Amino acid sequence: MKPFEHFNPPSLDEALSLLKRFEGKASLIAGGTDLLGVLKDRILEDYPAALVNIKNIPGLEGIAEDRAGGLRIGALARLAEVGRSPLVKTGYPVLSQAAESVASLEIRNMGTIGGNLCQDVRCLYYRYPHHMGGRILCHRKGSGPCHAVKGNNRYHAIMGFKSCFAVCPSDTAIALSALGAEIEIAGARGTRTIPVQNLYSPLSLEMSKEEIVTEIRIPKPLPESRQAFLKFTERKPVDFAVVSVASVIAIRDGRCTKASVFLGGVAPVPLRAEALEQAVEGRRLDAATAEEAALASAAGARPLSDNAYKVEILKSLVKQALLSESNE
Ligand SMILES: Cc1cc2nc3c(=O)[nH]c(=O)nc-3n(C[C@H](O)[C@H](O)[C@H](O)COP(=O)(O)OP(=O)(O)OC[C@H]3O[C@@H](n4cnc5c(N)ncnc54)[C@H](O)[C@@H]3O)c2cc1C
Ligand code: SF4
Repeated sequence: MKPFEHFNPPSLDEALSLLKRFEGKASLIAGGTDLLGVLKDRILEDYPAALVNIKNIPGLEGIAEDRAGGLRIGALARLAEVGRSPLVKTGYPVLSQAAESVASLEIRNMGTIGGNLCQDVRCLYYRYPHHMGGRILCHRKGSGPCHAVKGNNRYHAIMGFKSCFAVCPSDTAIALSALGAEIEIAGARGTRTIPVQNLYSPLSLEMSKEEIVTEIRIPKPLPESRQAFLKFTERKPVDFAVVSVASVIAIRDGRCTKASVFLGGVAPVPLRAEALEQAVEGRRLDAATAEEAALASAAGARPLSDNAYKVEILKSLVKQALLSESNE
C-alpha cells in the first residue's frame, strides 16, 4: 500500500468537509472489505491521499420501521445484521435473502450495506493487480479499450451495453431495486434521494467523491406480495452472482396484480425486466406464464463470445422465482 492520511470524523458534517477539503482525492471507508483490496492491489492510477472512516458517525446505523410503514436502513448497517433482522426477514425477504447470499459470514460481519451498494466492479481486467506486471487500463479507467470485448468475457454483461461490460456486483442493489427502494445521499449542498437502480451507470456510480450514502428507504410492499432472490454462482458458498433474479410480485385472487423484477449479473446496472413484468401482470403464475416470462426476460440478450450460457441460467432462475412457493 502507499501512504495516506486517515481521519475519524465524529459527524456527517465533518466527514463532508474533509471530502471537500481533499477535492476528490479522499476515499470513504466503511467496513473496508472492498476498498482495502482495491488499495492493496493498486488497481487504480489515482491513489487516495486520505481515507475518511465513517464508522464513528452517529445516525448512520440501524434498521427501523418508518412512519409510513416502510423500512429505513442506515448505510452502516452490516450485511449480517440486514440478513438476520426480523423486520427484514418478515417484510422484505427478498432483501434478507440477497444479504445472506453475499460472500462469507466474516465479510458480512464487516461489510456494510452502504459499502455493498458502492463497491467497485469485479471485471478481471479492471481488478488486475499492479504488482503483477502493471495495472490494466481500460475504458472504465478512462483510457484504453474494453478488453472484455475480445478477451475473457465469461462473467460479463449480456444485455446491450457498449462502453463497459462489467456487471453490477452488488446483490443487495438488485433486491433493493425490486423493492422500489431509494437511497439518501448527503453532499455539501444538502441531501438528495434517488432510486437505488439510478446509482449505477455503465461506467461509474452516479455520485461524486464528495458525497456520502446515508440511508436506504424501502416502501412497504403491497399486501400478499411474494418475494424471492435467486442467485446462481459458480463456487458455493462464497461467490458473486453469475446471474441473479429479484422478484416482488403482488397477487390477488390468484393473479399477479403488480410485478417488480430486477436482474443481476447480466448488465452493468440492476436491470428492470420490463418485458417479463408485462408478461406476468394480470396472469396466474403457472408453468405456462413462467415459461413465457422466462423467454421475455431473455429477449434483449446480446451475449459476448463466452457468456451465452448466462441466457439459459437467466431463463431457469426466472421460472424458479415465479413458481417458488416458499416466498408466499
Ligand atoms: C471474497 C469476497 C466475496 C464477495 N462476494 C460478494 C457477493 O457475493 N455479493 C456481493 O454483493 N458482494 C460481494 N462482495 C463484496 C462485499 O459485499 C463488499 O466488499 C462489502 O459489502 C463492502 O462493504 P464495506 O462496508 O466493507 O465497504 P468498503 O470496502 O469500506 O467500501 C467500498 C466502497 O464503497 C465506498 N463507500 C462505503 N460506504 C459508503 C457510503 N456510505 N457512501 C458512499 N460511499 C461509500 C468506499 O469509498 C469504497 O469505494 C464480496 C467481497 C469479497 C472480498
Ligand atoms: S468490462 Fe469495463 S472494467 Fe472490464 S475491461 Fe471493459 S471497460 Fe474495463
